[in-house]
Amino acid sequence: MNERSHTKMFDLRTLELLEHAIKLSISQNKLDDSEGSQVLPFLAIFIALELHLKRLLCDEHWSLVCSKPGKVSKIQFDSGEFRSCSFDDALERLGAIGIDLSTLEKVLTRCQKTRNRAIHFHHSVSRMQVAEVFHILERLVEVTRSDLFDAYDDRYGVMREQIREWDELLKTRWAQVKKGLLAQEIYFDCLVCGYPAVLLHDGEDGLTCSLCYSQFDRAEYVDCGYNYGPGDYDPGPDCPHCGRSACLANYGEGVLLCVYCTSVSGTETCDRCGEVDADPETGLCSGCLEDLIGD
Ligand SMILES: [Zn+2]
Ligand SMILES: [Zn+2]
Ligand SMILES: [Zn+2]
Repeated sequence: MNERSHTKMFDLRTLELLEHAIKLSISQNKLDDSEGSQVLPFLAIFIALELHLKRLLCDEHWSLVCSKPGKVSKIQFDSGEFRSCSFDDALERLGAIGIDLSTLEKVLTRCQKTRNRAIHFHHSVSRMQVAEVFHILERLVEVTRSDLFDAYDDRYGVMREQIREWDELLKTRWAQVKKGLLAQEIYFDCLVCGYPAVLLHDGEDGLTCSLCYSQFDRAEYVDCGYNYGPGDYDPGPDCPHCGRSACLANYGEGVLLCVYCTSVSGTETCDRCGEVDADPETGLCSGCLEDLIGD
């Protein structure tokens, strides 16, 4: 087997572990919400995490997965005759081949501690801790630009559906996602998870929640009477920039926001044509101003 096929084996097992863990975590939570019921899902995700660390090593060279590289032949490796390296060794080796995981170090150590306590000291595990280990795997994929989820988009898509309402995971993800939000951008509250993580200035058609990955048609925000900022929602006049009707949500006092073209306009109407976004000084819209100056 070559590195590529080993990588594939690792990925398939990682995905299987995650799929089982999610199903188990959800069903256990319904049957018995004690913290002891989350030990198995946690451990399964932790193994998936470990496996992915080894997959990253294997991408470099198969022997890095072994506890003693250089002491195992390729034939022995392919037949499973080897001891694999420890979690700490894997992290250290990844650092040595230029994969810097220092930003994840603190959470990785915490997850490792939870694992040890659950295995050796019969400690229970909370849904929050299960969420944390799942999220650290998501972060690992992101930081290392691994194609684990992209290569198996259909399977990850199903998982994403299943975990959409996993409150603890959303909370954990939010702590991360909010650091990346830009002050100059406009974010709407997600109509599914409720977090303000839907970037308005995003893509041509749809909007995506960067937290739960729900997708929306811009019209859904108009239809539901979404109210952004102070004041009541008003369907409002046609947008003076793109001409779409009923596309304005209240954005602030005297300000209209178009959900479609994302332009911001004033509520002042033009004395000449009745269009919104007129200049309060002259009482005219930009079109009329140009017409008059042109005359
Ligand atoms: Zn959401
Ligand atoms: Zn518009
Ligand atoms: Zn006008």
